Amino acid sequence: MKTDQHKQEDVQDYQAILESIEEAVQPCFGKGRVANYIPALGQVSPNKFGMTVRTARGECFSVGDANEPFSIQSISKLFVLQLVMSQLGDVVWERVGKEPSGDRFNSLMKLELEHGVPRNPFINAGALATLDLLMSLSGDTRERILNYMRYLGLNKTISSNATVVNSELEHAHINRAMIHLMKTYGCIDSDPEELIATYCYQCALEMSCMDLATAGLPLAMDGYSPLHGDTVLSGKQNKRINAVMLTCGMYDSVGSFAYRVGLPAKSGVGGGILAVVPGELSVAVWSPELDKSGNSYVGTAALEMFTSMTHASIF
Ligand code: GLN
Repeated sequence: MKTDQHKQEDVQDYQAILESIEEAVQPCFGKGRVANYIPALGQVSPNKFGMTVRTARGECFSVGDANEPFSIQSISKLFVLQLVMSQLGDVVWERVGKEPSGDRFNSLMKLELEHGVPRNPFINAGALATLDLLMSLSGDTRERILNYMRYLGLNKTISSNATVVNSELEHAHINRAMIHLMKTYGCIDSDPEELIATYCYQCALEMSCMDLATAGLPLAMDGYSPLHGDTVLSGKQNKRINAVMLTCGMYDSVGSFAYRVGLPAKSGVGGGILAVVPGELSVAVWSPELDKSGNSYVGTAALEMFTSMTHASIF
């Protein structure tokens, strides 16, 4: 059954599909709220919508504001995990778990109960522990992350927005509390202020849907990027990361996202979502209004339409 549906990939008119989604999501605007707990993020126009599909053949289809860079926020956690796994292997799984938290992305509750070991690398505590590992390597961690994103996104203009970094740093009290709690349990090695500043730097990276779909294509291709002609991750690492995206990538609404969309995905409070259809394509969507879990309201609706129209859900 799935094989027959996959054969349809050859005849999908992705451009027409994206255009009909752009039209169909219009009634969804106004139902979510732009994140404003990081004040600089609250400045973004709520009506933005962009979407890009990158296929295994390297083709690219886009609609709307797909070329406009936005704050990738927690989507950066996916790429920092990739970077740590490619540099340091499986050691990251000694520092973070692989289970959904069932709590908000910045919740402190389980962190104390579980002695400073975060549930997974995609909640804030887990991303901080993952970044702490990367910071144990010699060299400038910010430069390492920036170079990696420019390489994966095939775009040398990708950069981190200093205004967003400073805005988050001024309000990052809960994230600082997590770092100090984990440090008390011996789970963080770095200097806390250096760690929070580097974390805010990675979250404030700005990329477009085009950049993100390009950077995410290897996740759909067993770790190989047809665009770079290079292997970014081993097949085993790719399998692990996709599994954790599927089970933990959308915070405490990961179950309803699997139910509605049915793809491994990672979201950010900037309103972006990157999802992959294994073996076929990556798809990035951006629209800043968020649902109560902190995922793009319109973006989730768009991806639900996408998998309904293309039969691309993995289920
Ligand atoms: N920088 C944000 C934070 O730490 C990232 C959260 C997110 O995108 N879900 O709160």
